[in-house]
Order: sequence, then structure tokens, then C-alpha cells
Amino acid sequence: MSSPLDRAAAEALDAADPLAAFVDEFERPAGVIYLNGNSLGPAPKAALTRVAEAARQEWATDLITSWNKAGWFDLPYRLGDRLAGLIGAGPGEVVLTDGTGLNLYRVVSAALALRPDRRVIVMEGSNFPTNNYVVQGLVQSLGQGHQIRFAELDDLAAAIDDDVAAVVLTHAHYKSAHVLNMTGLTAKAHAHGALAIWDLCHSAGALEVDLNGCDADFAVGCTYKYLNGGPGSPAFLFVATRHQATATQPMTGWWGHDAPFAFERDYRPATGIGRMLTGTQPILSLVATEAGIDMIARAGTGAIRAKSLALGQLFQSLMGERLSDAGFILTSPAHPNDRGGHIAFDHASGYPIMKALIARGVIGDFRAPATLRFGFAPLHLRFVDVWDAVDRLAGIIHQGVWRDPAYAAVDAVT
Ligand SMILES: *Cc1c(COP(=O)(O)O)cnc(C)c1O
Repeated sequence: MSSPLDRAAAEALDAADPLAAFVDEFERPAGVIYLNGNSLGPAPKAALTRVAEAARQEWATDLITSWNKAGWFDLPYRLGDRLAGLIGAGPGEVVLTDGTGLNLYRVVSAALALRPDRRVIVMEGSNFPTNNYVVQGLVQSLGQGHQIRFAELDDLAAAIDDDVAAVVLTHAHYKSAHVLNMTGLTAKAHAHGALAIWDLCHSAGALEVDLNGCDADFAVGCTYKYLNGGPGSPAFLFVATRHQATATQPMTGWWGHDAPFAFERDYRPATGIGRMLTGTQPILSLVATEAGIDMIARAGTGAIRAKSLALGQLFQSLMGERLSDAGFILTSPAHPNDRGGHIAFDHASGYPIMKALIARGVIGDFRAPATLRFGFAPLHLRFVDVWDAVDRLAGIIHQGVWRDPAYAAVDAVT
């Protein structure tokens, strides 16, 4: 009788996996086990075909007529509407444009303008720091004395009072994968008259998100992680319908104008979500995002979440069985329901271990000072991949391979 942690048991899980067929829809470089889809999603084959076709036919052949003929002008809206269905938003509430940081700047600006008598912004201190940097820059340029009140993950609710204009939080933590209670914290913000802004970078495409179900005001997120949109692919931005007539943003440009082709001298905002746009969009990058969004929609976020949890649990069990004495400390929440799509372990020699692992074809990543992250994006991963990944990690640890000085040299991107 085989143990539940044998490789054969992992193969049996793959055989019974309703999402198994999606694996072949991705480019899968030979010999690589990719546990970093939480940072840069792998390439859907359909995205590569679509980008080549858009470049050859729409750009090279049809030239400028493609703005109308190929629907380029409407792409931010059309893709936004497709993505909306994956995050609990409605039609006309989401656009794809620019980057997460720029979109955060827009929606925090909008929220502060909607709460002109308040000066406090609640944020979580250990969040991905670009969010802090963006809001710090905004506060400085506004020059109105706004203050960021940083709280810890566990006492966010206590930091929300009647002075707060906006609560700016990330649903799933970039490092630990800790998932916040979006419903409860949004309700708490509203009870104090504050607005709730959610960053969905590590949630969209990884787990169920219900923006309207929890009454969120604004949201942003990237498309190059779990949505597999490609390196630097355009981010998304959500504005609840109830705010669209009054929300304003500072990066006003012709694409956000009510009549862009009237070429009027003065700015007048578009009536809907379009007022959040600024200028000409990166069409080829936008085009690349559709295949990934389409795959998530076909698979369904419920099924994706279920498989992601199962992959993560297998990884956690195998780590416990094979590497319990090797110095790895779980820094993600111990209960799977409390974490997003990846699992983090700290290890005193985390950096050289991850480099040695990558050299053996298992790609995870490292976040200073000591965290190894392993992502379980389920559409391109099999249960045997998880088994083989731990097997290779165990080999590296037990043979001391990572002690080779070549793995200690620090690369520019970790
Ligand atoms: C990945 C990530 C970002 C990325 O921001 P960019 O503007 O796309 O570089 C921002 N915030 C969080 C929480 C992230 O996880």
C-alpha cells in the first residue's frame, strides 16, 4: 500500500484533477518546475499566438485603421469587463491601464478628494513597499497635511477611526500570503465614514474576490502575476459605480476626456470609469492579457482556489515529512484558508538555497532578508511537479549543494 506522500499518490491526484488539461495550454520549458507564477505568470500559448497576430495583422498590415477595425480603442474597457467577472465587479466598473502603482495613485487621490475633511490614511506597514511609496509621494504633492497611519496586520481594525479618509490595504500579502478579511475591514471603514481601497495583486486569478459583495469602494491590481498577462502587462483599476460620477483623479489626459476626439481646450471628465484613463494605451501588452483572463474565467476561481489549496497542502506535508529538521520556518499562516496562492518559509541561508534550487530547475523566489516563496498557481502546475520540487529541494539540502560559494553571489533581481 502506497503512502499518501509517495510520488504515485501525486500522480493519482493529477489523474483525478478537473483542471489538469489547462497545463498544456501553457508554454512549459523543458526541465523547469515553475513555482513563481505568483510573481510572473508563465506564458499561455494563446497569448503568444494572439500577440504575433496583433503585431502582424493589426499593426503591420491594417495600421492605424486598427483603432476602429480591431477595437483597440475599446480594449481597456472590454478587457476590464472580462476581468470584472473574476473579482466580483460589474460591467463598466473595471479598466485595464498603466501599472498598479499609477492606478493606486489615481484611486487614493480620488478617495481623499471624496473625504476632504479627513487627513488620515490607514495602511499596513509590512505591505509591498511600492504602495507606501506611491501614497507617500501623493501626500507630499497634495501638501494638505495628510498622514499615513501604519498598522500591523493584526490591529488594522483598531487603527480605523473617524479621522480616517481611506483604508488602503492589500488583500493577500506579497510575502507571507496572509489574507485579510476584506468584508470585515471594508465594513469597519464604512462604519467610520472612511473609504476602502483594495490591492488585489496577489488575489486576482488566485482566489475568489467579491468586490461588490463586500461593498469595496476602489481596487487596483496587476495582471502579470496570477492572471498570466506577461511581463509588465497593464494593471487594472476598479471604481464602484456609486463613485463614478464624483471620483476625480489627477492624471487627467485626453483618454479620460468626455470627448477625446473633439480636441477641446479644457478637460471635462468622461462620465464613467473612462475618466480614470490618461493617454494612449500599450496595445500589444493589452492584447497579451486576454488569453490569461480567458483561462481563469473558463477554469473558475472556485476550482482554481480549491486546487491551489491542495497543491499547497501537499507541499506543506512533504516539507514536514522530508525537511522538518532542515531549518525551514513556515512564515505563512499555518491554516491554508488564511493564505493566498503561495507559501513562504524563512531559512537563515534562504538566498543560496533558492539559487541552488533554481539552478536545478525549480524556480521559486527569495525576498530579503530570509524568505523563500513557493507559488501554487494551479492552471500550469501538476501535483507531481510539487512532489518533484520538494524532492529536488531535499536533495540540495541533504547533499549541502547550496554551500557552493557560487550560490552566495547576489543577483540584481531576486
Ligand atoms: C506586485 C505588487 C505590486 C506591483 O506594482 P507595479 O506597479 O506593478 O510594479 C504592487 N503592490 C503589491 C501589493 C504587489 O504585490
